[in-house]
Amino acid sequence: MNTRFGIHHVTAIAGPALRNLDFYTRTLGLRLVKKTVNFDDPGTYHLYFGDETGQPGTILTFFPWEHAAPGRIGVGETQETVFRVPEGSIGYWTHRLIEKGVPHDALVKRFGESILSFRDPDGMRLALVAVPGIGVEPAWTDGSVPAEHAVRGFHSVNLLLKDAAPTGAILTDVLGFSEVGREGSLVRFRAGDTQIGGIVDIHVAGDFLRGRPGAGSVHHVAFRATDDAAQEEMVKKLVDDHGIHTTEQKDRNYFRSVYFREPGHVLFEIATDIPGFAVDESVETLGQALKLPDFLEGRRQGIEAVLPKVA
Ligand code: ZN
Repeated sequence: MNTRFGIHHVTAIAGPALRNLDFYTRTLGLRLVKKTVNFDDPGTYHLYFGDETGQPGTILTFFPWEHAAPGRIGVGETQETVFRVPEGSIGYWTHRLIEKGVPHDALVKRFGESILSFRDPDGMRLALVAVPGIGVEPAWTDGSVPAEHAVRGFHSVNLLLKDAAPTGAILTDVLGFSEVGREGSLVRFRAGDTQIGGIVDIHVAGDFLRGRPGAGSVHHVAFRATDDAAQEEMVKKLVDDHGIHTTEQKDRNYFRSVYFREPGHVLFEIATDIPGFAVDESVETLGQALKLPDFLEGRRQGIEAVLPKVA
């Protein structure tokens, strides 16, 4: 079997669900691939955005709370979530962000690549990286963003940490990454030849303020395990070589997950590539109906009554 490593998904906290949905589908042009609830707090949504099928490395998910207080970025948190766009599309995106009134920074270079950083309506830090040659990759569109300019999954996440080495050891020893470069206060790790979601940058900040979770904060970053056996192997390595214990495996319906706090304090998850989002609805209709896991189906009426209307 072909083993793939890299980012599986990123999960963040948002304010009002409708505003969140509107931004990620209509401004960024991602596909809503699953509308479900937070399995641990079923009175709130869990919204999944991705490419056509929500393949690993394209999935950004949110827990939207109507009255979430804003978070504050700090050490021990994900600082920025970065998407890939075709190299020739960065001009289009700059115009689009201006036109839509999205707060953004001037274009900068990082590791030789052009980066356009911006913020979502909750202040979550996002960026687009211009990647040469990816214009030919498949792109999903519903017309809000033309296919030629569409986002092609994640480029990377940027973790703001005190030091690089302890987290770097987990990335390289357990999660399939290797260190590939350093620039200023950044250390770059890459997961083999994985192109979509294959990069983690550690931004070494030293002693800096701790983050405070809230709207606009990343809750956790999930990394890929091909299947349950691969996940089990990673869990064993964490315990045996690093003395880190994960949670028990949790069935998230679309993948199976374990969680642990890495040495730099960021919450990491290891999620299986299987079974994927087409397990309870067809690829054509992904994201249209509110999907509930079997153990919550009996409470559907009550759950639907408390969820804010988003469509
Ligand atoms: Zn997750």
